[in-house]
Amino acid sequence: MKILPLFFILAVFSACGQPTSDTSGPGEVKQASAVRPYFGVEEPLLAFVHATVIDGTGRGLAKGQTVVVRAGRFSAVGPDGEVEIPQGAKLIDAGGKTLIPGIVGVHNHLHMPGQPFTGEEAAKLYLASGVTTIQTCGAAVPYLEMKLAGRISDGLAAGPDVVASGPYFTGPGGNPQMVIPQSEAAIRDTIRYWTERGVEWFKVYRHIRPEDLAIIIDEAHRRNARVTGHLCSVTFAQAARIGIDGIEHGLNSASDFRNNKTGGLCDGSREYIDSLDISGEEVGRLLQLLIDEGVFLASTLSIYESGIPTRAYADERTLQAMAPALKADYEERRARYDETMETGAVRERRLKRIMAFERRFFQMGGTLAAGADPGRHNLPGYGDQRNYELLIEAGFIPAEAVKIMTGNGARVLGKPDIGTIEAGKRADFVVLEGNLAQKPSCIRNVVQVFKAGYRYDPVALIREVEGKIGE
Ligand SMILES: [Zn+2]
Repeated sequence: MKILPLFFILAVFSACGQPTSDTSGPGEVKQASAVRPYFGVEEPLLAFVHATVIDGTGRGLAKGQTVVVRAGRFSAVGPDGEVEIPQGAKLIDAGGKTLIPGIVGVHNHLHMPGQPFTGEEAAKLYLASGVTTIQTCGAAVPYLEMKLAGRISDGLAAGPDVVASGPYFTGPGGNPQMVIPQSEAAIRDTIRYWTERGVEWFKVYRHIRPEDLAIIIDEAHRRNARVTGHLCSVTFAQAARIGIDGIEHGLNSASDFRNNKTGGLCDGSREYIDSLDISGEEVGRLLQLLIDEGVFLASTLSIYESGIPTRAYADERTLQAMAPALKADYEERRARYDETMETGAVRERRLKRIMAFERRFFQMGGTLAAGADPGRHNLPGYGDQRNYELLIEAGFIPAEAVKIMTGNGARVLGKPDIGTIEAGKRADFVVLEGNLAQKPSCIRNVVQVFKAGYRYDPVALIREVEGKIGE
């Protein structure tokens, strides 16, 4: 029997310790917070008053709101004066601040190009940026990812809840570090192996063969796991009909419209993006098929933007967070970009078309979620915040952009307990300085992050990762 190389390497890792499957609550977190306070301070009963709330359901912004949080859950949300403030509640005047649900990022890797595992540093930066749940959308080292997920849920590390992924699957000619299926039995075996260890998502990559995709989806669904793809060999329409759950990157990876494409192969040209009629019938039919088949799209605008020479500038906070090697890469790339600025115009136009495609999908009723897809100078968490600004640039109103990044993320992950600010839900939320609806950049002004009954200080978390992201 032939053993897949990646599978073999990762199996060896199991000797280093099983990831915990314990989905423990705040009790364990409390113990850890006593040791390292920046991990979070328990807040048993809070009442925010005079808050501006964008609740993640798609409803418009509400001013003058009272939000009561008891034992890590929203116990009441409503207009000031109408919501009773419980005795003993710590009263917080949230005048001038915006409350949004914690960001649920669905393309939020714990790896970056050249770095197979970004570890606790990335987790801290996600959390500090207001991201309280991540679906990692493909793991380079699944064991390390699951171990970190367990450490976070046990309160031993600060970070968002991690919905772990298995290894990537691709096909012949694809990235050799991914699983390139050798047989149906090997596919089913690999999926069984990882789901038994707590993996809930599998990602297929650009060279996946349609027949392998069908087996992956079948086995994953049997085991209550889901499949998403960065596609190329398989078209969106094909993948939707086979039963894929989600598709990443939107129009940029839609091989449905490629010129000179061979069925089942990742070839042909990407120039279709420049001429495709986004508001036309052909696109409408495809988007309707995705909606009918219940396929979500994951928007990753910030990583796309980071490759547009005219836009690819790291801001001050990003430069501070980057490890020296990552910064050197950025500077080297920046110098090269400065010589080839003309390609910026082409990519700029493509960005606008990618945005229009996502807008149309959303307007037709499709489930659009979002994720940072960290890479280049687009960092974990900061990339999610940039996504918000880009969604606004794409024409979404603030209530829609927040919904895409929170409520829709939760929906995609099948986690109805999070993603919105509504009574009864888990109180994962972010306090922002300023009015987010008036100024998109307020998404960067994170004052506090709350997750499962604990309050986190973004400044302390960011201080810890300075110069360490992408190490
Ligand atoms: Zn990615």
